[in-house]
Amino acid sequence: NRSHPHHPSMINPAVMPDQVAALVLQAIPDDERLWVPQAPQIHFRPILFNTSHGYWINLLRVQRSGQLNRHLHPAPVFGYVIKGSWRYLEHDWLAREGGFVYEPPGEVHTLVVDDGVEEMITLFHVTGALIYMDENRKPIGYDDVHTKLQLARNHFEATGLGAKYADQFVR
Ligand code: FE
Repeated sequence: NRSHPHHPSMINPAVMPDQVAALVLQAIPDDERLWVPQAPQIHFRPILFNTSHGYWINLLRVQRSGQLNRHLHPAPVFGYVIKGSWRYLEHDWLAREGGFVYEPPGEVHTLVVDDGVEEMITLFHVTGALIYMDENRKPIGYDDVHTKLQLARNHFEATGLGAKYADQFVR
């Protein structure tokens, strides 16, 4: 039956009927409005929000030196350093431009950008959440794919792109 939408003759061999759309974009955008403020001089550039598997991919951009929030991830994080460098207060290694970082589930760490680093940009693939902790390892807040998506929607709405602009990153 050639009229059936799932008949093989109707199927693009590269795209199955129920497959979600590919996502291809310029990671570092030309438009500054695509950088969503997270804290003073800290932005993230949304790349992918997976709301069914609970992960997101974004660029983190830090344009100041000093410490960021101490946090824990209950699930793994992968990072690739695009620009600048950073480290964790709890470790003696330095993540440099071109470097790869794997953060194991359950680790508490505090990101530090050292003096002299004007800007760092790192691609992070985060599953689950960042659970922010105080100095006594007491949870004081969190971010997950839903809070990040909401931050992006609020920012895009405020900058005139419209809240729905964030939908293109959802898979
Ligand atoms: Fe982390």
